[in-house]
Amino acid sequence: MPSTGQPLHPTRAHCGLPSTCAVCGQWPAEPLCHDCIDRFAPAPRTAPLVPGPLSTCVAAVAYGYPWSGLLARLKFHDEPGWAGPLAMLMAQAGRHGGLLAACDALVPVPLSHRRLAERGYNQAWELARRLQRPALPQALVRCLDGAPQHTLDRSERLSHMRGAFMVHPERAASVRGRRLLLIDDVVTTGATLQAAAAALLAAGAASVDALVLAATPAPL
Ligand SMILES: [Zn+2]
Repeated sequence: MPSTGQPLHPTRAHCGLPSTCAVCGQWPAEPLCHDCIDRFAPAPRTAPLVPGPLSTCVAAVAYGYPWSGLLARLKFHDEPGWAGPLAMLMAQAGRHGGLLAACDALVPVPLSHRRLAERGYNQAWELARRLQRPALPQALVRCLDGAPQHTLDRSERLSHMRGAFMVHPERAASVRGRRLLLIDDVVTTGATLQAAAAALLAAGAASVDALVLAATPAPL
């Protein structure tokens, strides 16, 4: 189903969250009220990336208040329901740039098996599956699992991520010739997204763009 024409706000039934805005406390309201979205998510932006094969990366918001706190609840506090309201921001950004309409399928950036086992869900897939587009959630495999990216500086991130992903051999046909849109929660340098895009293109993808929730200022 195309996402065009869908309501801007997800219903509360999608998230099991209280009937106040999580940011301003307004009641009754959606988990994120219109006023807070207008104030804190004014416009999507194109994220600057380290050099690589990825064509375009659009971020719905700048990483910071209040999105960093809500992302932490999604990722680290076992509240996957926050993917609904946050994916709504991504849908808006993806429609604006034409990214969602132009892609054949979404590819969430996978977690390593170890991290997936710890968390119980992949936040990128939780976001992607709410964007109401065809998706290939198991096309990419994360081969390497070292230190978390946020502990590494810029050059370490690049070398750390090289060869970090491969396309699952049994799913190579689903990637070949397709226009793919990588989905992730946060972009910093883009090293992770570039490595994922390289794997998809090596497997024959026609093109790879990316749509993320938040862009952080790149580390030095
Ligand atoms: Zn609000």
